[in-house]
Amino acid sequence: MKSLLKSITPLSFSRIASPLLYSSSISLQIQNPTPLSTLIDDFTRFCYQKDLPKAINAMDSLQKHGIWADPISYSTLIKCCIDSGAIEQGKLIHRHVFSNGHEPKTFLINNLINMYLRFGLFNDACKLFDEMPERNVVSWTTMITTFTNSKRGEEALKLLILMVREGVMPNMYTFSSVLRACDGLSTLQQLHCSMIKRGLESDVFVRSALIDIYAKWGNLDDGFRVFSEMVTYDLIVWNSIIGGFVQNNDGHEALNLFKRMKKAGFQANQGTLTSVLRACTGLVLLELGRQVHAHVLKFERDLILNNALLDMYCKCGSLEDAESAFKRMSERDVISWSTMIAGLAQNGQSRQALELFESMKASGMKPNYITVVGVLFACSHAGLVEDGWYYFRSMKRLYDIEPGREHYGCMVDLLGRAGQLDEAIRFIHEMEYAPDSVTWRTLLGACRVHHNVKLAVYAAKRILELEPNDEGAYILLSNIYANSWRWDDVEDVRKAMRRRGLKKEPGRSWIEVDKQIHAFVVGDRSHPQIDDISKELSRLIQRIMDVGYVPDTNFVLHDLEKEQKEDSLRYHSEKLAMAFGLMNSAKEKPIRIMKNLRICGDCHTFAKLVSKMECRNIVIRDPIRFHHFKDGTCSCTDYW
Ligand code: ZN
Ligand code: ZN
Repeated sequence: MKSLLKSITPLSFSRIASPLLYSSSISLQIQNPTPLSTLIDDFTRFCYQKDLPKAINAMDSLQKHGIWADPISYSTLIKCCIDSGAIEQGKLIHRHVFSNGHEPKTFLINNLINMYLRFGLFNDACKLFDEMPERNVVSWTTMITTFTNSKRGEEALKLLILMVREGVMPNMYTFSSVLRACDGLSTLQQLHCSMIKRGLESDVFVRSALIDIYAKWGNLDDGFRVFSEMVTYDLIVWNSIIGGFVQNNDGHEALNLFKRMKKAGFQANQGTLTSVLRACTGLVLLELGRQVHAHVLKFERDLILNNALLDMYCKCGSLEDAESAFKRMSERDVISWSTMIAGLAQNGQSRQALELFESMKASGMKPNYITVVGVLFACSHAGLVEDGWYYFRSMKRLYDIEPGREHYGCMVDLLGRAGQLDEAIRFIHEMEYAPDSVTWRTLLGACRVHHNVKLAVYAAKRILELEPNDEGAYILLSNIYANSWRWDDVEDVRKAMRRRGLKKEPGRSWIEVDKQIHAFVVGDRSHPQIDDISKELSRLIQRIMDVGYVPDTNFVLHDLEKEQKEDSLRYHSEKLAMAFGLMNSAKEKPIRIMKNLRICGDCHTFAKLVSKMECRNIVIRDPIRFHHFKDGTCSCTDYW
């Protein structure tokens, strides 16, 4: 017995699972040493050692003897093939397990299907799926998920119906996958009902998928209901609801929920942080964004998250942070490059934007639709008419990108800004698209800068044809008419506005100081520090008047109400916010303000002078662009 034990290799020992196997293998070795069990042993050992070449060799011997090993070993080997991208070896396993009429276990066939899908061999996967003698829930869900992921929602839904007809019950994974393929709210609600019937609604994956889809269809009420009815919470579900609010432009609610989530003891992951950064971007919360940045460092390889960080810094007007984040990225995709190019252009750094575009191409990265929008934007804001035409005309040939609505819009802007208004209107009429209100507003902006009243009236009327409730266009028309003493026309415009119940949206500015948002509305005296702010404002006005500042009320081509112009010019919301910022923030920090309406010419002049007199950098983001005021000048070069 002693010698016998010696003859058993340590490996055989370790592999022995049951005493029965032990004894049978011993007896085989004593009486009639057969190569067959050794062959299987060898094969199994190589599989567990993940030695692909040796395992395939051993499998070849099995094939010659018409024997098969256990399915677990094959599935280990399949995983090995997936990991090393060994397509041919994978196909050999497929052939072997089906050879001589052998019928592999369902889970093994599922593994093979998964392998083909991972290799991108969709047809092989489908063929195998079709030929399966018996398909279980995993087989169906694998195929459904594949259709969903490749945006073939209809096929995914059809497969779900077939599955149920074959008597296979979908599980939570099937549902969460199918939900993502929903093509409308009614299918979604039907599915939701059938999930409740099966008692699957309490599952976190299903809940999270439900919230995602309700948010995607803009139905946050139902999404939030699914969230609130939860008994146990899970990070996945938190991420879905926070992401849902961000997607629907409700950053405040998203951040509130994020606070609740942290209080409940959950740690944010990449998904959470991406959503929170997007909320910061929408609300221009640079300080909060910076805090989130500290947590992003943990996930330095997550491209989506890093792109969101980059976008946040660009849209919050902090180019230094954006550039250093961009430089630190270990990997960059076309979105990273496009974000940085557009960020530079929007912040008045057109030359740098175009230089970065050249570096992007030199790095071998192919520009996409959005990249070219950023490039044209840079050209238009720097008045580079020739370059703009060059990129616009050659984008199809050089980058295989058809010019789209945004590209045409940039060209109208480019021509308008350069004062080529006749050229701009000709371009609009020759465009491949019917001009929309954005196009006409762009032209209107150019008319404002170049004082072309006639064309401004034309553009404002086109806007009102497309958007009859646009207050700005009405007020602009009425100002122009009033300035030409055309009182009948003024009265007509006023009547039209009253008929529609329109009133000009008041100007609002926001400023973030010590992580608190302070909002100012034109002429509003509700801020607790309003008396001090007024005093500071008077001091500032006096100081800049000493160097020649004259309040400018002549903004005929600006959509300001007449009474608003004269009485409250000095109380425009951005002036209040600037005074408040000067009083309450550290001297070395730039003052950052967000405004809902376009900044008026007077406030623009005011900001330039204050930046010089007070030696402070001021950044104002209006709906169109950023103005970086520094030492008496603005990054927009007075062109906006
Ligand atoms: Zn103003
Ligand atoms: Zn400016």
